[in-house]
Amino acid sequence: MANNPSVLITGASTGIGAAYAERFANRGHDLVLVARDIARMEALKSRLQQETGVTIDIIQADLTKAEELAKVETRLRDDARIGILVNNAGTAIGGSFVEQNTDDMTRLVAINTTALMRLASAVAPRFAKAGEGAIVNVGSVVGLVPEFGMTVYGATKAFVLFLSQGLSLELAPKGVYVQAVLPATTRTEIWGHVGADVNTLSNVMEVGDLVDAALVGFDRREAVTIPPLSDDAQWEALQAARQAMIPNYQNALPAQRYRTDA
Ligand code: NAP
Repeated sequence: MANNPSVLITGASTGIGAAYAERFANRGHDLVLVARDIARMEALKSRLQQETGVTIDIIQADLTKAEELAKVETRLRDDARIGILVNNAGTAIGGSFVEQNTDDMTRLVAINTTALMRLASAVAPRFAKAGEGAIVNVGSVVGLVPEFGMTVYGATKAFVLFLSQGLSLELAPKGVYVQAVLPATTRTEIWGHVGADVNTLSNVMEVGDLVDAALVGFDRREAVTIPPLSDDAQWEALQAARQAMIPNYQNALPAQRYRTDA
């Protein structure tokens, strides 16, 4: 793998993915941009090539469609120059669970979880064999907060966090870095897709600030980066509480409160 590896970024036509593209181009990385909107990616490509001189390829793919997703998987498997995967493409849908359309939910799960997992699976064996590489998975704080009521979206993001933590445990000893990035409200078009006007929301992070913070975590090789969380001791306490329960799952008998024989 090259010293300054190529970076494949999904959802690179706008928002957080486009900001990642700009930042990695500024760092001198060649890029592979993936999304559906070819015109936007072409515009980003010509601007970034002009500003930075890096080489940029584009793969137009709807990641909810198996045959289009397969093009990206093949590229990740075969192109040894790609040393960083930014699994960012994702969307959200508005409404409560009972209001949402089942097919929309299924597409949401396909892009936010299935595509992300398949792309990680396409590249992880090559990275593990090489003993280097990085996978960045963009989750959301919503995956930690069922109280927000974005139930299916949050469930997909809980999947992203768990997958990232599990992959980090498996791959870090092999030299592969896995980062979960958990943004909160960030100024992108995603809010329009759920029928919200981002200008009416409070505490909105600018997309450049979000990605710059995520890259500070990336450079520190943090497993989980939560840019809006001021007190990282809170995250550490949550992990400690979770880990403290692990030995307590190992019981042959149900807990006393569930016993019917007492
Ligand atoms: P965005 O502005 O709507 O951008 C989403 C990107 O994903 C676009 O480039 C879009 O490109 C691509 N995409 C969507 N559906 C796709 C599909 N079926 N196939 C291929 N590409 C697809 O949203 P964003 O806010 O930047 O979101 C990026 C990630 O951040 C998502 O995973 C999101 O869940 C997460 N996030 C965002 C926020 C926030 O407040 N903005 C907060 C937490 C987490 P095309 O339309 O061109 O395909």
